[in-house]
Amino acid sequence: MFIYLHGNVTSQQIQRVKDEAINAGFTQAFESKGQEIVVVNCIGAVPHERKLELQEFFMTLPGVSGTQLAKTPFRLTARGSHPENFSVALNGIKIGGKPIVVIAGPCAVESEAQILATAKAVKAAGASMLRGGAFKPRTSRFSFQGLGEDGLRLLALAREQTGLPVVTEVMSPDKIDLVCQYVDILQVGARNMKNYDLLKALGQVKKPVILKRGDSASINDLLLAAEYIVAEGNERVIICLRGVLGFDHDYTRNISDIDAIPVIKGLSHHPVIFDPSHATGNRDLIMPMALAAVAAGADGLMVEVHPKPATALSDGPQSLTPDMFVDLMRQVKRVAHAIGRLTPKNKE
Ligand code: PEP
Ligand code: MN
Repeated sequence: MFIYLHGNVTSQQIQRVKDEAINAGFTQAFESKGQEIVVVNCIGAVPHERKLELQEFFMTLPGVSGTQLAKTPFRLTARGSHPENFSVALNGIKIGGKPIVVIAGPCAVESEAQILATAKAVKAAGASMLRGGAFKPRTSRFSFQGLGEDGLRLLALAREQTGLPVVTEVMSPDKIDLVCQYVDILQVGARNMKNYDLLKALGQVKKPVILKRGDSASINDLLLAAEYIVAEGNERVIICLRGVLGFDHDYTRNISDIDAIPVIKGLSHHPVIFDPSHATGNRDLIMPMALAAVAAGADGLMVEVHPKPATALSDGPQSLTPDMFVDLMRQVKRVAHAIGRLTPKNKE
């Protein structure tokens, strides 16, 4: 059950609501403060009939403006617990604010020359952050697995030279400390969306997490996975859609789940970004799907860019050339303006 209080309530009034919730049989009562509203999120197996009685009771307490029964299986990531949009801020960039944030870079860090050339090109075109995998989850163990810690060092060097914050994937809890020494945002890949030990460990981290949707995970599964991170204390979770399994593999790698953008924006307060590279597997489809995602309300994009896609060690066919990325940024800007969002830029 969500209990809403006016933004100007006293801390004693909030505490009274929390105490009454625990007395009534809820096991937990979390508070979340917005500018105009405070929400007390009550969790626990209280019978439905009793909840209906309690809704009336809570309305009699000072400061309470409304109540609502939870309609979704996820709670901390539900919009009911945080009616205002939530944005993740980092180095003056806000994911989930008005500007569309574009994260761009190669699938994998391959060499100093490759990552520095990409970082400079995407920055010049207006990207806000650099991506690059150092630990790569590959279907085949014979495929390039990433440069490991050397790749992380190169990402840190690219940040030093361009000022762009860097994003990389972490695949297991034992690598979190290492990855945190070098990067600004940690990514959970589609294959690991249901690695609950990894998610819980990321809940302890003081850096934002980009959580990618598993290729056959439902929206409920995705928001329940995000809940594991938030429940451990790390609220700064960004949801990333990257297509779901389809059947038309001759033409597209996955099905672009564009409709999930407004669905998740309605269900949750967390920012949502879209990855048209993994969604399509085809660089020619990146532009239309990226524009559709922005038009549908995405807060940002994650796009693969490589200085020479034909030589890429992973995901070359779905990587843009730097020139194509310049063109993409130009069009993203036009769509963003058309729907009242701001131009992508490095700082707000
Ligand atoms: C990636 O971002 O390079 C990646 C491996 O993506 P996903 O986990 O969505 O397949
Ligand atoms: Mn990739």
